[in-house]
Amino acid sequence: MATITTPFSGGCACGAIRYESTAAPMMMLNCHCRDCQQSSGGPSASFVVVPTEAFKLLQGTLRFHASPSHMGGKTHRGFCTECGSPVIGKPDGVPHIVAIRAASLDDPSGFSPQADVWTCDAHPWDQMNPALPKFEKYPPFGD
Ligand SMILES: [Zn+2]
Ligand SMILES: [Zn+2]
Repeated sequence: MATITTPFSGGCACGAIRYESTAAPMMMLNCHCRDCQQSSGGPSASFVVVPTEAFKLLQGTLRFHASPSHMGGKTHRGFCTECGSPVIGKPDGVPHIVAIRAASLDDPSGFSPQADVWTCDAHPWDQMNPALPKFEKYPPFGD
């Protein structure tokens, strides 16, 4: 089974943003909410969730777009101002996690989603893996 070796690194398409996670992923998931659809341009966004203290921005400055979150507060989606690549999401309601966009990893081959979340917003043309657990909204984020 695919795994992500720790520490792992990543960045945006143009290379202005570079980051590292010093901890292993707590969770990997696909989010099908409207905000993730719009920020990805696709049916969902794939995330590698790590503890906030393990995420280190090594280079560049992210710009954040905030949208209201069902968990309270807002979700802040960070992207590169040079190339527009989405890089991370930070929900106010779960301050102990950073959700890294799976495709921003230098080696995304180890991504192995454990759940589909926000399936209530998913479109009929969004083909999901039937073997994965489905959550209509957020799963428990394990405090
Ligand atoms: Zn960039
Ligand atoms: Zn989402």
